[in-house]
Amino acid sequence: MTALDLVLPSTCAGCGLHGTACCATCFAGLGPPEPIRVPGVGPPVWTLAAYHGAARELVLGFKERGARALSAWFGAVVACALIAVGQGPWTLVPAPSRRSAARERGGDHMLRIAREVEIASVAPVLRLGAGVADSVGLTAGARRRNLAGRVEVCGRPPPGTTVLLDDVITTGATASACVRALRGAGVRTHAVVVLTSARPHQPGQ
Ligand SMILES: [Zn+2]
Repeated sequence: MTALDLVLPSTCAGCGLHGTACCATCFAGLGPPEPIRVPGVGPPVWTLAAYHGAARELVLGFKERGARALSAWFGAVVACALIAVGQGPWTLVPAPSRRSAARERGGDHMLRIAREVEIASVAPVLRLGAGVADSVGLTAGARRRNLAGRVEVCGRPPPGTTVLLDDVITTGATASACVRALRGAGVRTHAVVVLTSARPHQPGQ
């Protein structure tokens, strides 16, 4: 809690309800984790919610509007997702942010969530090199080119189940670039967990 939290009463980032950073109704929309098919990524991908409505507002509130308290809520649902994706011990590898974006947000937002997941180790071993543009508005091909060769691996996760953690999956370009970079460093990614999926829902997957 910061001094600002004491002055400003919190409101739910999902729906605006007063008195909490995330109300029970919006929290209930995060999960259970659902497997989704994302061609080209490799390991299984799981999402907690679709990227719309309250779930989208929670992600944006956390990522862009400074609702940092939400890391505890997201951490709780990511912990549940880990139990669904495989056997522990788990290590979370946060998908890296662009350095300028992380600076503007006062730190790496996915690392902040990973650190709230008490049952997992955290290995922030991925970095984006210089020259990566914001991917918003880019086509799938442009997103791939934007990241090609620019995800750097600086360290090794401990042995166990390695899970890449990201906030939104759209084309899968970020996830596949991260998985590829880890593979190049001899690290197998067992699963990808995302908070939300902006992909069209395809039943039966
Ligand atoms: Zn709410």
